[in-house]
Order: sequence, then structure tokens, then C-alpha cells
Amino acid sequence: MADIPVLSDCTPLTPEQNDLRLMVREFAADRVAPLVAEANERERFPRQLLTEMAGLGLFGGLVPEEYGGLGLDHLTYSVVIEEMARVDHIAAVYMSMPSSLVGAGLRHYGTEEQKKRWLLPLAKGELFGAGGVTEPRSGSDVAGLTTAYRADGDEFVLSGSKAWISNLDNADFLITFATRDKSLGRKGISAFIVPADAPGVTLRPYRNKLGFRSISTGDVFLDEVRLPADHLLGEEGQGFYVAMGAVESGRLAVASRAVGQAHAALEDTLAYAPERVVFGQAVSDFQLTKAKLADMATGVVTARLLTHAAARLMDTGDRARPQLSMAKQYASDVLQSVATEAVQVHGAYGTSPEYRVSRIYRDAKVFQLVEGANEIHRLLVADYLLGNRK
Ligand SMILES: Cc1cc2nc3c(=O)[nH]c(=O)nc-3n(C[C@H](O)[C@H](O)[C@H](O)COP(=O)(O)OP(=O)(O)OC[C@H]3O[C@@H](n4cnc5c(N)ncnc54)[C@H](O)[C@@H]3O)c2cc1C
Repeated sequence: MADIPVLSDCTPLTPEQNDLRLMVREFAADRVAPLVAEANERERFPRQLLTEMAGLGLFGGLVPEEYGGLGLDHLTYSVVIEEMARVDHIAAVYMSMPSSLVGAGLRHYGTEEQKKRWLLPLAKGELFGAGGVTEPRSGSDVAGLTTAYRADGDEFVLSGSKAWISNLDNADFLITFATRDKSLGRKGISAFIVPADAPGVTLRPYRNKLGFRSISTGDVFLDEVRLPADHLLGEEGQGFYVAMGAVESGRLAVASRAVGQAHAALEDTLAYAPERVVFGQAVSDFQLTKAKLADMATGVVTARLLTHAAARLMDTGDRARPQLSMAKQYASDVLQSVATEAVQVHGAYGTSPEYRVSRIYRDAKVFQLVEGANEIHRLLVADYLLGNRK
């Protein structure tokens, strides 16, 4: 996959950043690309690939080196996530989990002992995790969760259920959230580390979902699950903040994956359009097609610039919540429109599993929902603009 200069020159990279990017590119082309279609069809991510990725340190991301990670800056992290997502954004989900939904809470709120026991093997790819926030009746409204816990001697006991939780087939443990007293709102919520094989935990994967098919997603039932005290993450009552502490790196990863997928859809369209002859001329010769290609490219470049700007802001040590919301929402909306146009230019072939734009199209819709639905991000940005949030 050669770079297309107009698309790729927008952020100058250091030689180290570029070397890492090229290493991921080569691995993705050689080892990941041949497996993507089958993994999607079987609705199962190849475990062997996770082992190979672990061998290259690809789960290390933002996790500090002392906890087994790569200690990357946010811009480099974004670049390598995007690079993997150009081939397979689910492999990029796996790369991002130790730095975001699963590992960020451990990194920010875990005790030294918890970091060594859970975060370190996560960053090395020796353990895998899942992040259990969403419930059947609360998604966007995280504080509305109803999974309950009580203290019982030295233990905590959890009961309730989670829905739409990813990585059920490979997760060794979940970071999940429960309330001691619903009337306390977000102050009643605590975070827990729940081994996937703890008595009382039942996992029920869904089948045949619209997109993101190669990662197993489903329900988690918790029936009087007993956890030792050292499975509480953070203090009691800090759970909402543990969850929110993970969203920033999570949103950066989703935006980066969306840019990678949009780039892939455009690349495929640029390869297909000159080859397909209609009315005696290449589809790429039609002015209407050229306008589509230009708009797609402008979307990819602007989404990448916005994502990199948010990453750079994070690298200064500043919070970047509105910038990350803009990047997540914008990049996923760009992906949706680029994927739609990519299928359009491919005509009927764009709906065939033979062409990956069909998969990108199905996955694009899901990007607009996960890691905060785009309506929620627009609300958040507007509230910052209006001074309702600081
Ligand atoms: C493939 C997949 C994988 C997932 N993986 C995970 C995972 O690993 N862990 C996890 O915890 N969750 C996961 N999710 C769940 C995801 O995070 C939620 O779908 C998302 O947070 C939205 O919640 P919801 O689906 O309950 O939508 P709802 O909250 O029910 O919202 C429905 C609609 O109403 C809109 N809406 C809600 N509130 C407002 C408002 N105030 N103003 C305007 N519009 C509003 C929303 O934007 C949305 O369009 C996954 C989802 C999918 C599809």
C-alpha cells in the first residue's frame, strides 16, 4: 500500500513515528489482511493473530513502559491505530483496549498491585479484557445504570446485566460498573474488575449484527457475583469518573480508526473507478465521480487533521474533551459519507463481499454509535461553546 501524497502529507512525522507506522503497515498487509474477510464471516477474531500482535508489542499503546506498555505519545498512538485500521479496524480495537476502555481505568485509578496484576499482562497481550458500561436500559445515560452491588464482609456482591459488551470470546476479565444506591446518581457508582470465569458470570454473544462482526459482542449477566475487596477499582463512589477517565483515549482511538477506514474506502475507490468502463469510458472520467473523489479526500484529510490536533493537545497534558468529541463525531460522519460514496462508485460490486467497501459501509454506521453516539458528542461540544461546561 503506497502512500497517496495528497492524503498523507498533512502531519509531518518523526523518523521514529514513521518507523513504527511502517512496521504496523507491513504486519497489517502480510498477516492481518489475508484473515479479515474470513474473520468477519465467521464472526470471530483469530486468536493466533492476537498472539502475533502481542509478540510485536502492539497492545502496549499509551500504557507506560513500567507496566509493560510502549508509553507512546497520543499522536503516535493515533497514527499506528489509523494504520492498522486501514486494513482492519477490529485489530485496531484490540490494540486500543489496554490504553482505553479496559486499561485506562486501571492506569488512572488502579493500585500498584492492580496495575501489576491486570494492566501489565493486558499491555503485553497475555490477558485480554472487556469494558462493560452499557446496559439493556442505559447506554448514553451512563449514570442511569442499574446493576447493583452490596458489601458483604470483605467482599462485594454484584447483580445485574450489561448489554453490547465487546470481546466476549477473548476477554479474561471485565472492567464493569455497578451502583450501591441508585438514588445517589453518579456518586453511587463504583468500578470493579470481574474475572470472566467468576461464578455467577454468564456471557451471551449476539450473532449476525450489522457491523463490527469479527469482534464478539453481547450480554453479560451478573448473578450474585462475589468479588474480593481488591477487585474494587478506585474508591467506592468513583466509578463514574473511572468510566469517564477512559473515554478520552477511547474517543481518540475511534476517531483514528474511522480515519483509517475512510482512507481505505477511498483507496479502493481510486483503484476501481479508472478500471470500470461504462458508456465507453472509465467511471473516474465522469465529472460527477471526480467531485465525489475530491469530497471523499477532503473528508479524510480534514478528519485526520482534527484527530491529530486533538492528539497533540492531549500530548501537551491538557484535557481535550470537546476536541475529542469533535474528532470522534466528525471522523465517523466522514467515514459514513465516504463509505456510502465508495459503494456508489463501485455500483453493484460495492455490495458484494468480494469488495471490502461493502464491509466498510456496514461498519461505518456502527462508528456513529459507539464510544458515545454522535448526538451526545454534538451536545457536549455545544455545551462547551455555550459555557455550560468547563
Ligand atoms: C458493535 C457495538 C459494540 C459495542 N461495544 C461496547 C462495549 O464494549 N462496552 C460498552 O459498554 N458498550 C458497548 N457498546 C454500546 C455503545 O457504547 C452504545 O450503543 C452507545 O453508548 C449508545 O447507547 P445506546 O445504544 O443505548 O443508545 P441510547 O442511549 O438508547 O440512544 C438512542 C438514540 O438516542 C440518542 N440520544 C440519547 N440521548 C440523547 C440526548 N440527550 N439528546 C439527543 N439524542 C439523544 C442517541 O444519540 C441515539 O441516537 C457497543 C455497541 C455496539 C453497536
